[in-house]
Amino acid sequence: MARKKRGLLIVVSGPAGVGKGTVDAALMAKHPEIKMSVSATTRAPRPGEVEGVHYFFRTKEEFDRMIEENAFLEYMHVFGMNYYGTPKAFVESERDKGNHVILEIDVQGALKVKEACPDAVMVFIAPPSLKILKDRLVGRGTETQESIDVRTAAALEELKQLPKYDYMVVNDVVDEAVAEMESILCAELVRTSRNTELITKLTGGETI
Ligand code: 5GP
Repeated sequence: MARKKRGLLIVVSGPAGVGKGTVDAALMAKHPEIKMSVSATTRAPRPGEVEGVHYFFRTKEEFDRMIEENAFLEYMHVFGMNYYGTPKAFVESERDKGNHVILEIDVQGALKVKEACPDAVMVFIAPPSLKILKDRLVGRGTETQESIDVRTAAALEELKQLPKYDYMVVNDVVDEAVAEMESILCAELVRTSRNTELITKLTGGETI
């Protein structure tokens, strides 16, 4: 008997440079049933950014209307300028189809999602060490020394929030991190709390 279950909501956080995008992309390449949520923002597109792929670019008025319509799972006003938010409709429709949805989101947003959706699976991608994280930021070659120092300090602050997450995946070797993500999803899917329908049938004495 095919069992159609509601998909998981997977919240993935981790400091800049930890490789969460790489891990998520590798996971999704193996599992087409895992989808990435696309956020809405009021900021202008950067060169190369595509509507509906990187963000849904919206005016402040459109964003305000979405807030009024309760269209966001969470939203945030960043740096006193731009708004960013996770549209609820995509997350809900994919989960209803049985697909899993990843939100790649910062710690503050992640905690708001957990409040709104207590069944969200909270995963923190951590570096093997702060030294390695710093070396990876240097290795990118795109950051100034000042930016590296700021990002390393921000990473330390984010790492302090780690105990609020359900799982910690250390990204040392990408394939191993992906395998750990797969194990997490597998374990979450067999939780009794996600199988109440079948449990009710079984305990109800149904024989077909
Ligand atoms: P950027 O403008 O560089 O793309 O993103 C700026 C910040 O906004 C990043 O820290 C990013 O994680 C955050 N951000 C992007 N999308 C969302 C979202 O849907 N919700 C929240 N809370 N933050 C977001």
